[in-house]
Amino acid sequence: MIFPQDQDPRKIFPRPGQWIFLTALVMFFAACAGRPAIKTDAYGTDIYARLKASKLPWEKLGKSVEGREIYGLTLGDGDSTVIIFGGFHGSEREGADLVLHFAEMLYPQRHSLKSRVVIVPAVNPDGLVRGERLNANRVDVNRNFPTENWGGKVRSRNNFPGTSPASEPETRMVIELLKRFPPQRIVSVHTALAVNNYDGPGAGLAGRMAEKNGYPAEGDIGYPTPGSFGTYAGKERGIPTITLELGRRSFQEMRDPNLDALMLAVTFP
Ligand SMILES: [Zn+2]
Repeated sequence: MIFPQDQDPRKIFPRPGQWIFLTALVMFFAACAGRPAIKTDAYGTDIYARLKASKLPWEKLGKSVEGREIYGLTLGDGDSTVIIFGGFHGSEREGADLVLHFAEMLYPQRHSLKSRVVIVPAVNPDGLVRGERLNANRVDVNRNFPTENWGGKVRSRNNFPGTSPASEPETRMVIELLKRFPPQRIVSVHTALAVNNYDGPGAGLAGRMAEKNGYPAEGDIGYPTPGSFGTYAGKERGIPTITLELGRRSFQEMRDPNLDALMLAVTFP
């Protein structure tokens, strides 16, 4: 048996370089343990900052609960309108990021568009800035729409539908936008179920988007979503509505196939 005092102390105690590594490791785990249940992150903050700093001619469509601007970009003209939403859920930052990238990609092509395209990267900017799913009133904007099944049984408080249908300014902004530009197609980008989920007559479009992004096209997401935007626009108003759920791969890997899928929604059929 070897007692510690028999050993070279340099082998027992870490050397200076190792101390730095161990201290960093302990600080990392301490930071993880102290993290609030609903995470905040710099990525989410950066997307809204990037959106605000963007040089594209954004229009202010409305304000969030905390007074943040909700920006929209209208490009092209024509008989049909396509609306692309991101950031209903602020924690699903890749969705907002994708829609902002799509706006930047489409803007230089605006003169060749054959339809009107309205792009809203951050429906819920308060959630996006915090990296949180819910809005600042702790409401799931995607359960707050005035549908026949609003307020039905929800899975958790992460799906709180609000105190009444359309109680939230973010929800009302979306409803007003649909009245102003009645769309032929809608895509709302979320994460991370890796599916082209369609509501209403959207199976054809979802199937074509599937060819681009490789996610399946499905009409049922597998659990009830009372008061969802898909129910409001797709099921109850008959507008082909795709909830594009990105997957769990890195944004870099998912970006281009899904920009192609969004482009297909613009040029469809
Ligand atoms: Zn979502």
